[in-house]
Amino acid sequence: MSPVIPIQSSPLTAPAAAAGHCSTAPAAARPVLRERGQREVFCGLTGIIWLHRKIQDAFFLVVGSRTCAHLVQSAAGVMIFAEPRFATAIIDDRDLAGLADANDELDRVVTRLLERRPDIKTLFLVGSCPSEVIKLDLSRAAQRLSQRFTPSVRILNYSGSGIETTFTQGEDACLASLVPCLPAAASADQPNADLLVVGALPDIVEDQFARLFAAMGLPRVQFLPPRRSTELPPIGPHTRFLMAQPFLADTARALEDRGARRVAAPFPFGVEGTTAWLKAGAAAVGVDATVVDEATASARQRAQAALAKIKPALQGRTLFFFPDSQLEVPLARFLHRELGMALVEVGTPYLHRQHLEEELALLPPGVQLSEGQDVERQLDRCRAARPDIVVCGLGLANPLEMEGMTTKWAIELVFSPVHGYDQAADLAQLFARPLDRRQRLAA
Ligand code: SF4
Repeated sequence: MSPVIPIQSSPLTAPAAAAGHCSTAPAAARPVLRERGQREVFCGLTGIIWLHRKIQDAFFLVVGSRTCAHLVQSAAGVMIFAEPRFATAIIDDRDLAGLADANDELDRVVTRLLERRPDIKTLFLVGSCPSEVIKLDLSRAAQRLSQRFTPSVRILNYSGSGIETTFTQGEDACLASLVPCLPAAASADQPNADLLVVGALPDIVEDQFARLFAAMGLPRVQFLPPRRSTELPPIGPHTRFLMAQPFLADTARALEDRGARRVAAPFPFGVEGTTAWLKAGAAAVGVDATVVDEATASARQRAQAALAKIKPALQGRTLFFFPDSQLEVPLARFLHRELGMALVEVGTPYLHRQHLEEELALLPPGVQLSEGQDVERQLDRCRAARPDIVVCGLGLANPLEMEGMTTKWAIELVFSPVHGYDQAADLAQLFARPLDRRQRLAA
């Protein structure tokens, strides 16, 4: 196990932050406990589960082992009535001499698949972490196969390997691989900058945001990823992009390399986050905040009323985040500021200070932030704190439940529609329900 590398060496005895305050300390000045040790997270293959539903003409071919096939199949479920849009090409034990065969086999699998499925317009070859797969050069395979199948099918590759990625980073790697394919925006006929929302959102949430932007006079807002891979949004120096998810560092960098500029904003969770996010996006393309206030008034009121009903179940309850989805900081901000929960520790796999700057500024002073993981040490801190609810991965949830703690699976926060006004109460309910269940069991 790797040693702990603490930036702040004080023991983690900071009291749970009181609700209702925000920090005036610059985000960069916040002490963060950095840990490097054994970690308990899913790998980036998990992203296929929501990405294959979002991009309706794409296919995800995992190049991996039986373990990878098992993970994707059991997490995504078996589609009985529809043609599946993911599969695993299983690469068994091979030495280097067998690599030529592996490449031939991959070409055969891809050819068979694309001949049988003319509906596929983009094929992602998704790398994994078995050593036989690491030896394969999937970017060369994608280039080789592209020469054969372009223009009818675009073939890209990215890695979902558990060595390199946590589970939400699979989406980041996938979207980053798409960015070089985005067409260049023609700027001459575009007096205003274009707005691009980045991050896979359920269609229902995307439609809600599109309606709100249209009500602000912005009908041309585009989304990455699009529902069809043949309708990629154009980008260029006029493009301002607004991140809907906090785990898209590589995608953001790739967009900036194409000349687009990121709009700094909190993330659209809860009423406060959604309003600030919409206002930042609108301001970036010259729309006044009062226009946003008018366009969002009824949605805000509905969401506030729905949250007020759930708040009594959460107010004052203590919360501990293990690092998993990279949504931890925005969610902690929402649960603390809009529902009055007390934050014991907010752990996140990676703390992107620039992308999270607006979020960190809204967290209460004294909250314990941790980055990375040394799972045994973190478990010790959690057991000592005995929080009312623990947000963690599936592997930790069951043992903690056995110890009498109430848990919330982090993965559910990514699978459920949780962004925006109309989902704010559903997001709060995801935390209120396990507490309610525990109470009923104890009664
Ligand atoms: S990519 Fe690695 S961590 Fe993920 S399922 Fe395959 S073997 Fe396991």
